[in-house]
Amino acid sequence: MPRPILATIHTQALRQNLQRLRLAAPDARVWAVVKANAYGHGIERAFEGLRSADGFALLDLAEAQRVRALGWRGPILLLEGVFELRDLELCSRLDLWHTVHCDAQIDMLAAHKTTVPMRVFLKMNSGMNRLGFRPEHYRSAWSRLNALPQVDEITLMTHFSDADGPKGVQAQMATFAAITHDLPGERTLSNSAATLRHTLDAQHVAAQAQTLVASDWVRPGIATYGSAPDYPLHTAADWGLQPTMTLAAKIIATQDLSVGDTVGYGSSFVADKPMRIGVVACGYADGYPRICPTGTPVLVDGTRTRTVGRVSMDMITVDLDPVPQAQMGSVVTLWGRAANSVVLSIDEVAASAGTVGYELMCGLAQRVPVEVT
Ligand code: PLP
Repeated sequence: MPRPILATIHTQALRQNLQRLRLAAPDARVWAVVKANAYGHGIERAFEGLRSADGFALLDLAEAQRVRALGWRGPILLLEGVFELRDLELCSRLDLWHTVHCDAQIDMLAAHKTTVPMRVFLKMNSGMNRLGFRPEHYRSAWSRLNALPQVDEITLMTHFSDADGPKGVQAQMATFAAITHDLPGERTLSNSAATLRHTLDAQHVAAQAQTLVASDWVRPGIATYGSAPDYPLHTAADWGLQPTMTLAAKIIATQDLSVGDTVGYGSSFVADKPMRIGVVACGYADGYPRICPTGTPVLVDGTRTRTVGRVSMDMITVDLDPVPQAQMGSVVTLWGRAANSVVLSIDEVAASAGTVGYELMCGLAQRVPVEVT
């Protein structure tokens, strides 16, 4: 008998979220960002829901091989480019597009003996201070690349540090526009937050051409997977996004507590009234954050209640008082959609753990069986 825990990947929700993002950026093509094994969903499992994207953006060659093995013939972008010259041969065979963010990568492209010209995304560090050429060095990097016979097209790229926050995108966009306004080629700027919150239609951009830049390609990741990039300012439901991953497990025991009884390691929860709790077959070894405190929301048979006591390796304990009919075998939704269609947002659980939905998705443990619907 397998342990009663299951993650479900919702193909139709992936499709709908992608469609929602297309509506937000109607003039742009959309990368499906599938790095980190499709944000923990599994590239192969998510592929069917994402195949209407215009391209797949990811980090490493093994992931690119997996996408090609699924039969994808369209664009694949390496979001950090290559790390070793010797990787370029496989990149050419797989027909990958390259992000170039530093001089060492230009040197590698220059040294690559190929007759198949490469498409390059040249990244500007417009304020994130992670990857990319500083604005004052961007044009010389562009000229170097443009002079290489190995390179046939250069797309201009940057990444926002605060598209989900109060700073927004204007300052970085203005920097990017000032440096690139007369360079030829397509542009790609927006992640999920920028796509949903700051997408600029072509008319708007034309009116303020010096400071605003429209993305020819948008790069939404997290919103595709049904999480709000700017939670709690907006919820996924506010943005019209559907959960794409449900994590659910069953109650494997119940306990009737008397006043003063404690629950779990550290005895951190003390019953202040007689109550019934359920023991659920999901713990931190399944990817449920250990740091979630008492009070983290869960759904039992689709009814909202809370965790009590510490998360342990294989189990959590939940308050059954709001769900008197619950018993062994009742289904507990840790995040995602319950059978009665009630949704517990992964963002809400993540917030309770002091983190973001990204980390919970990516942290789904190997040992959890996964089905695709
Ligand atoms: N583009 C780049 C370069 C990224 O590094 C990421 C993710 O960090 C994304 C796009 C997708 O971002 P998000 O998941 O916030 O939409």
